[in-house]
Order: sequence, then C-alpha cells, then structure tokens
Amino acid sequence: MIVSDVFAGKRYAVLGLARSGLASVETLLASGAQVMAWDSREDPRQALEGRVELADPAVSDLAGYDGVVVSPGVPLNRHPIAENAARAGVPLIGDIELFSRARATLPPHRVVGITGTNGKSTTTSLVHHLLKSAAIPVRMGGNIGIPILSQDPLPAGGVYVLELSSYQIDLCQSLDCDVAALLNITPDHLDRYDGFVGYVASKARLFAMQDASHHAVFGVGDRETAAIALEQEPRHSAGTVRRADGSDIREWQKDWPSLQGPHNLQNAAVAVAIVEALGLNPSQWRAALPTFRGLPHRMERVAEAGGVLFINDSKATNPASAAPALAAFPPDPERRIHWIVGGLPKGDDLDECAPYFGNVAAAYTIGDAGPQFAELLAPFMPVRRSEMMAEAIRQAIAEAKPGEIVMLSPACASFDQFRDYEARGDAFRQIVEALVAPEPAAGGIG
Ligand code: ADP
Repeated sequence: MIVSDVFAGKRYAVLGLARSGLASVETLLASGAQVMAWDSREDPRQALEGRVELADPAVSDLAGYDGVVVSPGVPLNRHPIAENAARAGVPLIGDIELFSRARATLPPHRVVGITGTNGKSTTTSLVHHLLKSAAIPVRMGGNIGIPILSQDPLPAGGVYVLELSSYQIDLCQSLDCDVAALLNITPDHLDRYDGFVGYVASKARLFAMQDASHHAVFGVGDRETAAIALEQEPRHSAGTVRRADGSDIREWQKDWPSLQGPHNLQNAAVAVAIVEALGLNPSQWRAALPTFRGLPHRMERVAEAGGVLFINDSKATNPASAAPALAAFPPDPERRIHWIVGGLPKGDDLDECAPYFGNVAAAYTIGDAGPQFAELLAPFMPVRRSEMMAEAIRQAIAEAKPGEIVMLSPACASFDQFRDYEARGDAFRQIVEALVAPEPAAGGIG
C-alpha cells in the first residue's frame, strides 16, 4: 500500500467505499490522517467501525478538512456533496489526487496518465506490458479496476501507469503526468456533463495540469482530440507533443494477435509513442508487441468449435466501441459476424456501427434495447429478437456456418440484466462453453 507523511495529522472525508474509496481510507489511516467515511450501503460502513468517524460528508460540517475523497461514481453535477464541500471551501478530490499528493514522498518515478472514450484499458495494459518487457519496474492502476493506492510503491526509476476516466480527471487538481495521452473522444456519459463540450473540457484538463516540459500524446481520428492537441502545442516545450497516427507501425500489426482491427492500431500507436517518450527504443517495444495477450471482455476469443469462432467483446458498452469490433473482420462473405447486441442503451441509434452492417450475417437482440435495436437493424440484416443471452447464443450457434463468427459486442451498458460488463462477458463465455462442449465419449473406461 502507498503510505505518505504528507497526510499525517490531516483530516479527510471519504464518500463512497467501493474499491478506490476503501484504498483511500487505508492509505490515509496508515499515513496518520483522521478520516470521516461514508457509504449509503451499511456493509462497508460496518467494516470500518471504530477506525474512522462514520458520518455522511454531504450533511456534515467540513470546516477544516483538507479534502473530500469522492468515488468517481458520484455524479458531482447533481449530488449534495458538491455544495456542502464548496460551502466549507474544501476541495473535492479522488484517490488519484491523493496519489498525486503523495508523489513527493515516493522514490523518484514517472507517471503516465491515459484517457479517451474508448481503448483506455487496452492501451494502459499494453504500456504496462511494453515497460515490463523492457525490465522497467511498473504498476498500473486507476480506472482499470485496481486502485493505485493499494499497491506497493515502486523502487526508484519505476513508472506508474494510470488509466483515467473523465470523472477521475475531474477529481484531480495536481496530477502532473510525465506522459499524458488522449486516445479519442466520442459522445459518452453526457448525463454527467454540461453537454459534449463539458466532457471534452474534462479530458483537456489532464494536459492543463502538466508541466510544459512533460510529454503529451494524442490519437488521430476525431476533431475534438485534434483540437485539444492544437491547443496544447503552444503551451508545451518543443518536441513534447506527439500525434500517433500509426502509419509507422502498421506494417507489423499482422504479427500482434491481440491487437487486431483499426482501433487497436490506434491503441498500439499511442502506447508506442508513450513508451518512446519514456525512453524505450524501437527494438525494445517492437519485440514486445507480439507477446501482448489482451484483456478479458475486449475482443476476447473464448472458444472455437465447428469452425465457428466465439468472441466476447462485452466491454463494448457504447456504439462507438462496438463499431471497431464489427470492423475488425473486413467484408468477406465466408467470415461474417453473428452479432449479439443490446442491453441498457446509451442513446437511441447505432449510427457509429452502420458503416459495418455489411459484415454482419444476422443480429440477435437482447436486453432493454432489444426491441428498439431490432427495428433499427431489420432493414439491413436478418434479426432475431432473442431477449436473453442464452437464447441469443443458442440461435447464433444454430445459424453460424464454419468460418463465421459469433460475437457479443453489445453497444450498451449491462445493468439491465447483469451486475456489470464483466458478469455479462463471463455469462457469455460460460454459456458458449456449455453449449459447444464436446459430447462425453460414449462407453467410457468402465
Ligand atoms: P476503455 O477502457 O476505454 O473502455 P477498452 O480498451 O476496454 O476501452 O476497450 C473497450 C472496447 O472499445 C473494446 O472492446 C473495443 O471494441 C473498443 N475499442 C478499443 N479501443 C478502441 C479505440 N481506440 N477506438 C474505438 N473503440 C475502441
């Protein structure tokens, strides 16, 4: 766990006791801070009984506190904590800001911050893999699901790689990344922001917090990312702003089994630009790209049976992230996709996926979005209104021909039918495995 003298004798409130909130409490307590903590659920409150002051910071007097650590899941534009903290003049921060405040007391190190609408986790774990392969001490954390504070500090010369959602950036004030990267921006999470402009501004703050001599890396492909790159250029020292278009690495992509598709060329290009900014040379990253294994639930090959490939892309929670999954199998009448799509919709169209409808043999709609998506897709492809995951998989198996692909890439959130996208992907894998499992051999050994 990361522990730091900078918190000794300070007072912090922590609202939201899931993974990152609990890690914040533990770091603060171990560092000698006084902590007020709260969660609307009783279980996590009980677990801290006797170690912290159990009170809700949204309705407590916060005068004299050094910060309120709020979980990135708290909608700051609507939650009363924002007004209560502002009244007391106390900053709203997150676990990443705590990490940032602790940095001065850690052994000399560098920090990489990676954001974007899609591709963050892939790029974060790829950067981790490239650095590890070059024998550099490295930890990854943040939005990827592992709190950075709960991990042991690195020895001198190490690199912390942080995946940052826009909510986590909103809750930072001092995070000066040695390398900050923005992959792409497409509309998402608009319920939490003052429109698209507010969402874009949130991403831009990652660069505004950087020292001018530090590196900034930008993906190429959308207007908003290009605009932020242009805006940052005059602020940054010469040579520190890189636009990673992938043209210099495209010829090797065929050798990277877990980085197929145009979206993964973008992720790889940004990852390579990041590690080059950290000083890796081409022979180091080139040797490591083919051995990257990818992440579960992101274009994950879960089975192959009867010549049919089964792909779990449950992490595609919006149409912009499902689109590249459909695009990853270029038009080929022998290799079309049986597309399982639906869940809790983020919008009312699938426009971003439309250019790739030609790659789809049939759609199998599930979840709340099912009826709406079925109507939307019917003019372009055969549609089965499957409603449930198991039914969708059963129908897809019945219809898929050898060489074709059955893919869950839902373009929706999962919360209508599953706890989270991981549970949805696990369900897909388990059902596929159960349905395609080889028949037990007749007879047996006896
Ligand atoms: P994030 O962590 O930003 O949600 P992931 O790396 O977990 O992103 O990828 C989520 C899904 O988004 C993937 O399954 C893939 O379909 C899609 N995706 C990945 N990288 C990109 C990209 N650069 N551009 C667009 N979509 C992407």
